[in-house]
Amino acid sequence: MTYIITDSCVGVKDASCVAVCPVDCIIATDEDAMMFINPSECIDCGACVPECPVDAIYPEDDVPEHQKGWTPLNIDYFTMERKGFLDKFGAMIAEAKAKNRGSEHANPALYP
Ligand code: SF4
Ligand code: SF4
Repeated sequence: MTYIITDSCVGVKDASCVAVCPVDCIIATDEDAMMFINPSECIDCGACVPECPVDAIYPEDDVPEHQKGWTPLNIDYFTMERKGFLDKFGAMIAEAKAKNRGSEHANPALYP
């Protein structure tokens, strides 16, 4: 199994989860508006879950039905080349980012 980061991270990306992950498997580039969990490195410890201010992280088996699309997004991030990944998921990420604009934890640096 792995843990999955869902839509409420987009535009927040505060890295609270990164700080507690014992295997450093939560990553992103500066261009990304969210973080991603490497499914081949995550040890399913659950330490990241309570750290997230927007409850974005779920065990893979418990991702809510309406957020199931974020599971392949997390996994494909680590297996697809960037253009293909953005072609497939860019609109989904952009939609979540637009939705989270102005939310309590939105990161101003991600909304220039
Ligand atoms: S469940 Fe544990 S190992 Fe997996 S991403 Fe969260 S903190 Fe890291
Ligand atoms: S703690 Fe939550 S909002 Fe912050 S980077 Fe991790 S998943 Fe995203």
